[in-house]
Amino acid sequence: MIYAANFKTNHTRRSTEQYLSVLNERLSEKAPDDQVYIFPPATALGEYAGLFTQGVQNAYPAEKGAYTGEIGLEQLEEFGIRTILIGHSERRIFLHESQEEIARKFAFFRAKGFEIIYCIGEPLEVREAGEEAVRSYLLAEFEGIDLSYEKLIVAYEPIWAIGTGRSAHPEEIAATHAMLRKAVDVPLLYGGSVNPANIAQIVETDNVDGVLVGSASLDPEVFASMILHRA
Ligand code: PEP
Repeated sequence: MIYAANFKTNHTRRSTEQYLSVLNERLSEKAPDDQVYIFPPATALGEYAGLFTQGVQNAYPAEKGAYTGEIGLEQLEEFGIRTILIGHSERRIFLHESQEEIARKFAFFRAKGFEIIYCIGEPLEVREAGEEAVRSYLLAEFEGIDLSYEKLIVAYEPIWAIGTGRSAHPEEIAATHAMLRKAVDVPLLYGGSVNPANIAQIVETDNVDGVLVGSASLDPEVFASMILHRA
C-alpha cells in the first residue's frame, strides 16, 4: 500500500525535520511492502534519510534558467529528488495550470526518469451530473499524458472531497477506480479527506493501491497511525 503526505503550503524546514524524525521512528513498525512518500514545501526539501521517499509538490519543466520563482531539475538534484506530483487540482485551479502545461511538465519529468504521481479529479457539478460525466472529465485529464510510463502512479482526488472533510463514499471510489483501471494499468491512489476514521475502509476498497493525504498528514503521529492501522 502507498501512503503519500502532501504538506501543501504547511510546515517549515524546522518543523519538517521534527516531523520526519517522529515519523521515521514510527515507520520502523510499518509493513515492509508499505511505501511512504512525503511532499514537503519547496523551502523544506532536504537531504533526509529514512523509511520514506521525499518528493516535490511541483517544479518547472527545465534544468535551470530564467523562470523567476520556480525551481527546476538542478534544484531537485541537490536533494536527490526523483519523485514529483503533477496535475494537483489546487495547481489546476489556483495557478491556472492548463492541461497542455501539465502535459509538458509530465513529458519533461518523464524524460528525466522521475516517478510521477499524476493527479486527476472532478468538480462537484461533474460528479452530480453522473458517472458518464465523471468518466469523460477524468479521461480528458489524461490528454497528452503517457499512460504507459512505467514510473507512473495516478491519484484520483475528487475536488469536492479535498480539504472539505467529505471523503468520497467507498462505493464511489470503487466505481471510479474500476473505470480508471480500464484506462490505466498503474497503482491508483485515492485522495480527498482521508483520515484516521476512514482509512481502513478506503484502503480495503477494490482497485485502491494507496492514499494521498493532505490535512490529516500534517501531524506525524496522525499520519503514522494511518499507515500503521494494519500493522
Ligand atoms: C490533497 O489535496 O492532496 C488532499 C488529499 O487533501 P485533503 O486530505 O486535505 O483532502
